[in-house]
Amino acid sequence: MDYVLGWDGDSAILAVELTYAASQKDSTVFIFGDPGFGGQNDIFKVIRNIRVTRPEVVRIDEADRRITIYHNGAKNHRITYEIEGSLPVDKPTTISLTELFRPVISKGILTLVNMQFDLAITDQSNPLVSFSWRRYPENLTYFNSVEPSQTDPSKKLIDYYDNLSQKVYFVMGDNIGVQEYDVLGIPYYAVTTKEDNYGNDLQERLSPFFESYFQSIHRFWNDTEFPFYYLAVTALQNNQKEIGGGGFGMRNGFVMKLGRKFGTRDKYVTAHETSHTWIGIKIIIGENSFDHQWFGEGFNDYATIINLANSKIYGEEDFLHYFNEENFKKHYESAIKDVHNDSIATNYWTDYANYGVLPYRRGCIYAFYLDNQIRLASDGKFTLRNMLLDLYELRKAKKKDEVLTVDDFINAGAAYLDKKELEEQIARYMIAGQPIDFEGVKTIPEFNVEVHNNIPKLSLAAHADLSKIYRW
Ligand SMILES: [Zn+2]
Repeated sequence: MDYVLGWDGDSAILAVELTYAASQKDSTVFIFGDPGFGGQNDIFKVIRNIRVTRPEVVRIDEADRRITIYHNGAKNHRITYEIEGSLPVDKPTTISLTELFRPVISKGILTLVNMQFDLAITDQSNPLVSFSWRRYPENLTYFNSVEPSQTDPSKKLIDYYDNLSQKVYFVMGDNIGVQEYDVLGIPYYAVTTKEDNYGNDLQERLSPFFESYFQSIHRFWNDTEFPFYYLAVTALQNNQKEIGGGGFGMRNGFVMKLGRKFGTRDKYVTAHETSHTWIGIKIIIGENSFDHQWFGEGFNDYATIINLANSKIYGEEDFLHYFNEENFKKHYESAIKDVHNDSIATNYWTDYANYGVLPYRRGCIYAFYLDNQIRLASDGKFTLRNMLLDLYELRKAKKKDEVLTVDDFINAGAAYLDKKELEEQIARYMIAGQPIDFEGVKTIPEFNVEVHNNIPKLSLAAHADLSKIYRW
């Protein structure tokens, strides 16, 4: 499959031309879009003017997002269409933020991921895919996530079809800056808008991540087997004031759309999302990431916060604020803090304010608890990090289609804590959902947890130093 793309640098339209192979077949079926990606609805307002050349005929089934091409004996196969990137007039910016599937294509800027323009082919007839730009404005900065060192849009990018999922990200713009960093020998790219309405200097704001956070998290996981990584933060053009931020993980990268000043919350989001490279992507417990979000989100959150502390992006104040205000207070005051783990997935999207945030807090609080128990039991010799590294080794020892289970988690922990106790903790706190009663819970001497009105509150002992507690 060869995609040839075109954009004039001015309009909201991306022109797509796809040639593909279809030997010995009567028809080829493509699917456009993914309902699981950013709430895709009205998808045939985004893709339009779908055309083929006679004798081929195209049939579109909007409900199933299926595009069927009947070849009628044609030897060469080509389909052309347009992707409409303009913002709905009534809600210019909110829409592009909440409907992440919508590409940003407007005067002077284009950001595009493959889910926003490519077609999924339903058979195995085209094992290779290429992308290249035929028409594009001169003198724009260009970034692509297939081969980031390639800065010429007209050069073909080639990859295996099976390998493409969430991999292709294009940025072109006159207000785009790309900075390359060397993080422990791995090329890292910071891709940002240079100037925006909020007065952000995003390259400057992101530099601590490239100078310390990414190093910290690679060392945390003893893992530098990485081709490259990119962090793309672009401010949305808009005519409103603060519209928040949103983002999604890509293979080897994280993409954020920003509609405000880049602040403490955005630092946390950036750190959390990039940390998912391990917990949440490389290491998942259960059949899918929804099964055990206390691990996928909560333990990832704990890893995030202690790496922010290790890299000194978060000092004592930010660290304690995160635990006390964002976790302990909100969790222990939540009316649904004790619901069963199984009720999370079913209510996640409909009641995100309660159920969506629950596994983050529940898991992060338990990870903190567990880290303290492992440190106490081993006299400071081991920490939760050792258990997580063992779990990562277990993951790597398994076949690709084998899942990591809660039993694997317990077995990894049993090297450091009593196995029976660990089993009971998981069943009681993570699955049944009972909140941990911190009254009488022992922590390492550097921490104090006091409970007032049933809400735990963490403080640091006088001699405590976060960068010594979280050191690797
Ligand atoms: Zn997450």
